[in-house]
Amino acid sequence: MSNHYKFECSSCETEYSPSPSLIECEICDSPLNIKYLPTHYSGGDNTSLEIPLPLNSQSELFSLGEGNTPTVNLTNTSALLDVNLLAKNESQNPTGSFKDRGTSILISCLLKFGIKEIVEDSSGNAGSSISAYSAAAGIKAHIFAPETAPPPKISQIKVYGATHHSTPGSRDKVTESARKYAVKHNLIYASHNLSPYFIEGTKSFGYELLSDTSHTFPTDIVIPVGNGSLYIGVYKALTELISYKLITQLPRMHFIQAESVKPIASAVYNQKWNNKMVLQTKAGGIAVGSPPRLNQVINVMKVSGGECDTVHEEEITNWQLELARTEGIYCEPTSAAAFAGTSKMIKSGKIRKGSTVLVPITGSGLKDTSPV
Ligand SMILES: [Zn+2]
Repeated sequence: MSNHYKFECSSCETEYSPSPSLIECEICDSPLNIKYLPTHYSGGDNTSLEIPLPLNSQSELFSLGEGNTPTVNLTNTSALLDVNLLAKNESQNPTGSFKDRGTSILISCLLKFGIKEIVEDSSGNAGSSISAYSAAAGIKAHIFAPETAPPPKISQIKVYGATHHSTPGSRDKVTESARKYAVKHNLIYASHNLSPYFIEGTKSFGYELLSDTSHTFPTDIVIPVGNGSLYIGVYKALTELISYKLITQLPRMHFIQAESVKPIASAVYNQKWNNKMVLQTKAGGIAVGSPPRLNQVINVMKVSGGECDTVHEEEITNWQLELARTEGIYCEPTSAAAFAGTSKMIKSGKIRKGSTVLVPITGSGLKDTSPV
């Protein structure tokens, strides 16, 4: 096994030898990050950018062709909101969402450890992504999903041949069931929310912002956050780019949550929050009542000078239709939440007019319940 990185606790900074069965700090239960040993950083330049990854070489990468998604200028919405609005279209990934970036690295590492069977829980996108990559890699996948998950996503999981465990109750109950199943059957719990490998994969989103020179580098990035795997991954990428001196300033990183499920926004604003306050939301990708990486998300927001906001269900639907009808982009509700939040933040002055704002189309609307 590779020795150029360790696992490090995101809270108490205890270090561990990498292991696929280790997903939380044994001392304080906080999520783990990957920490590269100093010798790994060889730097880079615009022509030969090397993304630090927990792999020894590119040949260890298990890929279905994820990444390198297009960034498009939303001219009609830009005029409406008085900013330069860009969308990076992650629905163009192999299974239709950004999750494929994280899954590619996660599965690459599980293969190196010789893992043959895994358990995962997901509202749908990560489940279908892990199902697809597992199928291609010859890994047996058990996917726990809420019984309320959109039927197209459940179908996708089944089509790839994964074992689907439909689970009643809240999103957090689904996580609990998956973890119990993994312990009972002595299987690896390959959680996209907890695995430190998954976030290393989402870093490529941030690196691609640099290589796509068809537009101005964003001053602001707005991401819908449930557990924050994309948000934290993009931040890691941008700080690496700063260490390479390829960018000089971190864009302001804002996050959006649904009003129905807002644990992180509540913590930012010192509002009361507990799991019993979770309500049903269309934005299934961010419906996480107790996110393990809450502190990391807030830290990214603060360090980058970002802000956060929450959006109501009707705002999500309105923006899903708005983007489809003015820009020709059919995004999933979770992504529409970020656009609704962006609009709010511009109106309230949290994002300055004239800024270059980038928002991900986190997944395709075709994978979700139709808004009409
Ligand atoms: Zn710890």
